[in-house]
Amino acid sequence: MTPITYQNISLKPYNTFGIDVKARYLCLYEKPSDLQHFITKGPLLRDVEMIILGGGSNQLFTRDFEGVIIHPVNKNIKVISEDADYVCVKADAGVTWDNLVAYAVENNWGGIENLSDIPGDVGASAVQNIGAYGVEAKDCILEVNLVSFADASTRTLLNAECQFDYRSSIFKNKFRNRYLIDSVTFKLTKKHKFITHYGSVSEELKKFDALNLKNIRQAIINIRSSKLPNPKEIGNGGSFFKNPLVSEYLLEKLRNDYPEIPSYPATNDMVKLAAGWLIEQCGLKGYMNPKQTAGIHDKQALVIVNKGNASGMEIVDVARLVQNKVYEKFDVCLEPEVIIN
Ligand SMILES: Cc1cc2nc3c(=O)[nH]c(=O)nc-3n(C[C@H](O)[C@H](O)[C@H](O)COP(=O)(O)OP(=O)(O)OC[C@H]3O[C@@H](n4cnc5c(N)ncnc54)[C@H](O)[C@@H]3O)c2cc1C
Repeated sequence: MTPITYQNISLKPYNTFGIDVKARYLCLYEKPSDLQHFITKGPLLRDVEMIILGGGSNQLFTRDFEGVIIHPVNKNIKVISEDADYVCVKADAGVTWDNLVAYAVENNWGGIENLSDIPGDVGASAVQNIGAYGVEAKDCILEVNLVSFADASTRTLLNAECQFDYRSSIFKNKFRNRYLIDSVTFKLTKKHKFITHYGSVSEELKKFDALNLKNIRQAIINIRSSKLPNPKEIGNGGSFFKNPLVSEYLLEKLRNDYPEIPSYPATNDMVKLAAGWLIEQCGLKGYMNPKQTAGIHDKQALVIVNKGNASGMEIVDVARLVQNKVYEKFDVCLEPEVIIN
């Protein structure tokens, strides 16, 4: 069957910022032969710009897109092997991430419960190496199954080959737009190691009668929904900026003026600062632009929100304001985590 391609379609339902731009082509991907079709007979035949779009929860559109958007809609989850300790689950790129977490928790398979309630799809979980509450996707990814944009051939990359890093991987860099992730295989535990020391997880867990995957998932959903705006109600892309890495030297200098500045050890003599704290110190929490269309969330300074039909550029203007203020005050450059198209 010929795969579905829409033309001149609004991307508003396809991005969590709720930005209303149009795409020239939106191609729905279900299997490698669909990519073959797009390359040999469809719009990818021509030399046009291309974006892979998952749940659109980490992408900001600032203009109508004249090229081709490939959107995975394959949604199978299957167990491919299992022993007394582990179960390996292969999930298609188009599976909603939190549906996979819910499925794992229902089956009492551990490893990804701390990543509950993160928007987006399975494909991007590997691209972004999503992380929360002391866990990253890379901790459970066994392998990633790819399709090449050159000839629709398939290949598999083992975890160690994926160059996973903080919110990054080979798929975001060298393999960007060269390979589409078709599915990801996760190795989940039957004998669990709970990670509950991070943030307010252990505090929230006191409200539950037992320590198990189901309660950890619920505790994390409770914490997240009390702090983060639900994109279905207020358009946003989660944390807009990465937590910046700075030298020990700069941290010491900043500590003179701000003794309470939060910092976390990182690699290569660098330390990580909390971007949200830096933004809050600039007095920007709850900021709203003059048109009242875009601003900073009043409960979480790291989140830029669409308050009502903002354009992508209005969101970018708020981001630039934040970057300038933080740089002036702390001499620290904030780098967007959200991808700006
Ligand atoms: C309210 C909110 C809270 C969030 N909280 C967190 C959090 O706690 N931790 C965290 O890490 N992130 C968080 N995020 C960010 C976001 O959820 C993740 O980055 C998520 O993985 C994005 O998934 P997506 O499917 O929406 O990807 P998209 O935004 O559609 O795409 C992200 C990137 O992946 C690429 N991509 C997508 N699918 C594929 C594929 N199949 N093959 C190849 N490339 C692909 C895209 O081209 C793009 O470069 C949050 C976002 C929101 C809105």
